[in-house]
Amino acid sequence: MTRTVPAYAAPAPGAPLERTTIERRTPGPHDVLIDIAYSGICHSDIHQARDGWAEGIFPMVPGHEIAGTVAAVGDAVTRFAVGCLVDSCRTCEFCLAGQEQNCADGSTGTYNAIGRDGEPTYGGYATQVVVDENFTVRIPDSLPLDVAAPLLCAGITMYSPLRHWQAGPGKKVAVVGLGGLGHMGVKIAHALGAEVTVLSQSLRKREDGLKLGADHYHATADGKVFDELAGTFDLIVSTVSAPLKLGGYLKLLRPDGALVNVGAPEEPVSLNLFSLIGGRKTLAGSNIGGIPETQEMLDFCAEHGLGAEIEVIRADQINEAYERVVASDVRYRFVIDTATI
Ligand code: NAP
Ligand code: ZN
Ligand code: ZN
Repeated sequence: MTRTVPAYAAPAPGAPLERTTIERRTPGPHDVLIDIAYSGICHSDIHQARDGWAEGIFPMVPGHEIAGTVAAVGDAVTRFAVGCLVDSCRTCEFCLAGQEQNCADGSTGTYNAIGRDGEPTYGGYATQVVVDENFTVRIPDSLPLDVAAPLLCAGITMYSPLRHWQAGPGKKVAVVGLGGLGHMGVKIAHALGAEVTVLSQSLRKREDGLKLGADHYHATADGKVFDELAGTFDLIVSTVSAPLKLGGYLKLLRPDGALVNVGAPEEPVSLNLFSLIGGRKTLAGSNIGGIPETQEMLDFCAEHGLGAEIEVIRADQINEAYERVVASDVRYRFVIDTATI
């Protein structure tokens, strides 16, 4: 027995998303049935709905920034969230260490994946979702559900590398790209006590960037910036969704600095390796975060009063929102009011 739930899906690669229905499994003893209130639009949804990363599973219901409520559970917790993962092997060294995203057997994505039951997973552009309780997190009471939703991917994807590479007092951190991920990176790095610089394509969003907590803001379209800021940063986190000329950004690092890439462009990039050799620099990547760290991030955001800057949209505006995200015209996350599905 399953339950039929309204959702928005891309029927085929690149096709506009349209209203449909999907089947959700009947909750098992360890499952939580969540009434979804808000679902964020991540640029990863667009890459996948347009099959830019290849091997997409269609029809596809995107959405891995899911905030909602559950009617009946054993304790007082009623505000639940689901991020990018809904399952993993739970027994490998990485799962046991709370790094389900690195599961040796492959973790199961919230959508565009085949679950361990052999069925495709469908994401948060829907009114309900059924998830194993071990893959849900609690939303602290002080965070409204709409501004909390984007934290489930944008928030954790920035929090995890900022913590791992020790952004904090005395550290100069640059965030490349002021979109959904980037704006949360600025807020979190600032709250961690780092000196924060935004490297955006233009100065269009400068006022916003400074309000979000950046100390400095530069436009990378002005090539002089790469000379002026050479050797400045301890850590650079790139959130750019398109191929980036990494060499120029590596030049901005201090010796022993790290450039951590979280952007997931559809095309490969090339790199002259000399840009790593001088100054013993690190080029690294980072992928979301595990479930315990996602909870830690939500608690951190609640403690510091951090939520996403959002534009709430109706479900019938999803396709238009996708176009605006691709045009870097998002301030700073679109969130679907799922009551409009
Ligand atoms: P987004 O809101 O579209 O932000 C990306 C920003 O990158 C844009 O706002 C823009 O900022 C900048 N940008 C875009 N095109 C550019 C170009 N051609 N050259 C230079 N800068 C450019 O997207 P998002 O949701 O933050 O996601 C960003 C990327 O991270 C996507 O590729 C997404 O798939 C990936 N992602 C990865 C993870 C992970 O775990 N690693 C998690 C979530 C998302 P400015 O206008 O300020 O220049
Ligand atoms: Zn995402
Ligand atoms: Zn595992």
